Amino acid sequence: MEEELNLENFFKNSPRDLTDEERAGISKAFEFAKKAHGNQKRLSGEPYFNHAYKTALQLLIWGLDFETIEAGFLHDVVEDTITTTEDLEKEFNKHVGFLVEGVTKLGKIKYRGREQESQTENLRKMFIAMAQDIRVVIIKLADRLHNMQTLNFLPKEKQKRIATETLEIYAPLSYRLGMGELRGILEDLCFPYVYPDQYRKLVSETGDQFKIIKGYLEKIKPYLISEIKKEGLTPFSVHARTKHLYSLWRKLQRPEYDGNIKKIYDLAAMRVVMNTVEECYTVLGVIHRIWKPLPGRIKDYIAIPKPNGYQSIHTTVFTTEGRIVEIQIRTVKMHEEAENGIAAHWAYSEQGKPESGVIVKQGKYAWVSQLKDWQGKIAGGGDEFIQSLKIDFFKDRIFVFTPKGEVINLPEGATPIDFAYSVHTDIGNHCTGVKINEKMKSLDTPLKNWDVVEIITMKNRKPSKDWLDIAKTAGARSKIRVALGIAKKEH
Ligand code: MN
Repeated sequence: MEEELNLENFFKNSPRDLTDEERAGISKAFEFAKKAHGNQKRLSGEPYFNHAYKTALQLLIWGLDFETIEAGFLHDVVEDTITTTEDLEKEFNKHVGFLVEGVTKLGKIKYRGREQESQTENLRKMFIAMAQDIRVVIIKLADRLHNMQTLNFLPKEKQKRIATETLEIYAPLSYRLGMGELRGILEDLCFPYVYPDQYRKLVSETGDQFKIIKGYLEKIKPYLISEIKKEGLTPFSVHARTKHLYSLWRKLQRPEYDGNIKKIYDLAAMRVVMNTVEECYTVLGVIHRIWKPLPGRIKDYIAIPKPNGYQSIHTTVFTTEGRIVEIQIRTVKMHEEAENGIAAHWAYSEQGKPESGVIVKQGKYAWVSQLKDWQGKIAGGGDEFIQSLKIDFFKDRIFVFTPKGEVINLPEGATPIDFAYSVHTDIGNHCTGVKINEKMKSLDTPLKNWDVVEIITMKNRKPSKDWLDIAKTAGARSKIRVALGIAKKEH
């Protein structure tokens, strides 16, 4: 039976000790969300509150700060109940209000099916920029993870849309944030919905091979460790790691594998983590002494790192029972960077050499605390600290919505005229008025981030000369000139 969703069980999952103040704030958010969602139910028949609870729980497990956990409980109350952002600012604080507002706004971005990679990449960037604070993105990821885990209760067409969006936007985003493990989990959750036939085929092809090979690796592990110890070395850790299904499928599509699963030697790989680079090379020697390497399969990414900075030695060897096994050898530092991505990288490049083991002890999601450390170093705390969490690339761009939730990206200072032309030339040419956030405004009103802009058109309306001063973008101006018949001739 599933654990009861109460506060006691919630706090049991905390990876660190919480102060009384933190507990009080989180408890308050728990009660507030429970009351706000009241009798609302999800399609699964579960109380809506369970979703809020699971989202907050994930944030707690990842090691996020208490405001983010509070916002996790509250993330849907503005969208789905009568509660307003102002209520949250009053009841909690302005940061919690800000985080929930950010999550609510991000929820309005609509991903409309498969798009070109360049557009998808744009959407990811927009997502990050609109979030303004990296914690908003992390709340969305926790929210999306639970939604994916409960996707089977939704109608078919919705399943496909949400899974595709997750695969194209959320999984790559988690990867960018260094959450490689989350990316694998999200992709595997999406796989059966987005590519059902291919998923079924792969599952039947792999059968219980994963289990068998993992069991085999566990069997040979003690022998490998004892051989390493003969050299006077003690590995930091040795563990078996199975490949995620979706990433296996992607790999099978590469021409060199041509769909042949027998050519994939890393269904499960053994990872040997050592303390120094010298030890890694010694271990490589040990492995090649006890097991014959497969020719042409030794990759020294320590000497020559991958373009993304990835470092490890990979070798594929013939072991006992005629099995072929991939073994990856890396240092603790390389391991952390591979698992925790850019966050671990910051930690190392900022501090130089870490005290041994410190980073690893923080666990799988160490990047969250590292992110905080890193940002904590830049700013002192309080408001300044929060400020440093804000994302300020695309500083001079704003993102506004069409009434259908499409995102339009404009330079700061852009007006409804620019907006109209960037949606469509005809809308620009026939534009006669504008509603911003459902209120009538004049066409020279500067647009702000997150405005919902609705252009009112009239068939007979034509551009006027003063629009050239109102429009801020070169694109809109040149279209106005064409419509006015004063376009500069090219020849
Ligand atoms: Mn939600």
